[in-house]
Amino acid sequence: MSAAHKPIPPLLSVSSLEVAYGDVQVLWDVSLDIRPGEIVCLIGSNGAGKTTLLRTLSGLMPVQSGTLQWGGQDARSWSPSERVARGIAHVPEGRRLFAGLSVYDNLLLGAYSRTDGRAAIQRDIERMYELFPRLVERRRQDATTLSGGEQQMCAIARGLMASPKLLLIDELSLGLAPKVVDELVQTLGRVRDAGTSLLIVEQDVATALELADRGYVIDQGRTVAEGLASALQNNPTVRAAYLGA
Ligand code: ATP
Repeated sequence: MSAAHKPIPPLLSVSSLEVAYGDVQVLWDVSLDIRPGEIVCLIGSNGAGKTTLLRTLSGLMPVQSGTLQWGGQDARSWSPSERVARGIAHVPEGRRLFAGLSVYDNLLLGAYSRTDGRAAIQRDIERMYELFPRLVERRRQDATTLSGGEQQMCAIARGLMASPKLLLIDELSLGLAPKVVDELVQTLGRVRDAGTSLLIVEQDVATALELADRGYVIDQGRTVAEGLASALQNNPTVRAAYLGA
């Protein structure tokens, strides 16, 4: 095979992953790959294990068995902050912005692991204001007093301030107005086009498949289907179970 046709190696590669909360096993057999510059979505009903998977990828839950590789290296023992420093950032369910701190300070805290200096960090804060213009006028406001949509923008921007190669986003559109969701979908397309990969958990499967390049279906802790978003949109099982068709 010529160099030009070599498949791009995955940034993140997970196989046969098993994860438990104490005695309660939640992930039984999860396998997925994420390549540079792609948006991947996770589809699954409530309790399927999507949040648990994101928490495992960011180091908040230990791997019980299976592999978890980042850039070809075994990442299972890396701490959450080590993973952030190496390029995995997480926008958690519920956004978890820092109360009592302004939008600006929340963004600044997103950059805590960076070592590339103040000027680069300030440039990226300006870039976040370009990506999310609504944050500009709100920059001095306590982040937890923003509207739901603005809080999600702030949480995503804070995640991007870590300068990640992969951003994990849990429950992208939960509780947000359709117009705000459309805006976020457009913006995340720009983030991907600028080179950041995204792994998105999204209850609204139609939105998820519109945004994503590829997707995985998780059912009771197992990956049961995967494919291009366009193929999943036409997959009869996905249509019946998640698209109400
Ligand atoms: P949802 O969309 O409802 O958030 P999900 O696919 O993200 O669902 P998880 O939140 O990962 O699913 O939950 C998977 C399973 O793990 C559920 O059965 C849940 O009850 C269980 N679970 C989640 N957190 C804990 C915990 N801290 N302790 C014990 N069990 C948990």
